[in-house]
Amino acid sequence: MIKLAISGAAGRMGRAIIREMDQSGDMKVAAALEHKSCRVIGQDAGLVAGRDSMGVPISANISGMAFDVMIDFSNPEAVSEHLEICKLVNAAIVIGTTGLNESQNQQITEAARHIPVLFAANTSVGINLCVSLVEMAGKVIGDVTDIEIIESHHRHKVDAPSGTALLWGEAAASALGKDLSSCGVFSREGHTGERKPGSIGFSTIRGGDIAGEHTVMFIGDGERIEITHRVTDRKIFAQGAIRAAHWLSTQQKGLFNMQDALDLGRVFGEAEITLPYVGANR
Ligand code: NAD
Repeated sequence: MIKLAISGAAGRMGRAIIREMDQSGDMKVAAALEHKSCRVIGQDAGLVAGRDSMGVPISANISGMAFDVMIDFSNPEAVSEHLEICKLVNAAIVIGTTGLNESQNQQITEAARHIPVLFAANTSVGINLCVSLVEMAGKVIGDVTDIEIIESHHRHKVDAPSGTALLWGEAAASALGKDLSSCGVFSREGHTGERKPGSIGFSTIRGGDIAGEHTVMFIGDGERIEITHRVTDRKIFAQGAIRAAHWLSTQQKGLFNMQDALDLGRVFGEAEITLPYVGANR
């Protein structure tokens, strides 16, 4: 039996993961972690998520609780804390939290020398399939087209561009043999001049309850290819995170991504693991 600790258990993603858990399978929620100021501390994690009682109270302190894999959808500061906890108890960690800074990225890399760490800016299977499709398109037509990425999310999202948009941008940049930090254009305003050849542009839309939409355009003279992914239910992220945790529980220490967990390298060829590029606009 694989024991999971859900961090951010009362959040949108934490609750979605708890709802999607099949407690009768070979994994179960053993701990539910929240910030100490959370209003539902002490309440049953299952009931808070809108399902049956699980007998797991939401707690602000995980010390003394046994778990094999933590799934973290909380916030960047909490990720730092949780990496240390997982190292201490030799547990694996799936990190879905986005908006990490460079020092938090380094902390992930360091922790992966001791424990299995899977970082996924997007845990949806479909999104990760698209990463491979973007990389493939980039290799075939990236040098003769202009690459633009548009992402739309709900009004509560606090980071931009989304971790997924950056992930797609990195896939396109790596297909061109470039680094996103040198070719990404994250804002345009005023007299920008003509589009710089080989750049990858990002546009962000925020509003309402959009769960997440991403389009990458390969814009040529006379044709345009678009790869689009639309989320209609955030349970896809939860299902992907649970699948990732199951896979990660079988791994030794190291840094992994969803491409590994889904074995997409076998279909599309191995890609180098990159942590999210931290844009100058953060
Ligand atoms: P949310 O604000 O609804 O939930 C976050 C929860 O974390 C809150 O309940 C908060 O109280 C809790 N939290 C804060 N500090 C904590 C701590 N120290 N310990 C434990 N819990 C703590 O946000 P959300 O929509 O669930 O998203 C959470 C994160 O996941 C964001 O960074 C978001 O961008 C990211 N996200 C990633 C994916 C993906 O596929 N990787 C999908 C959706 C959201």
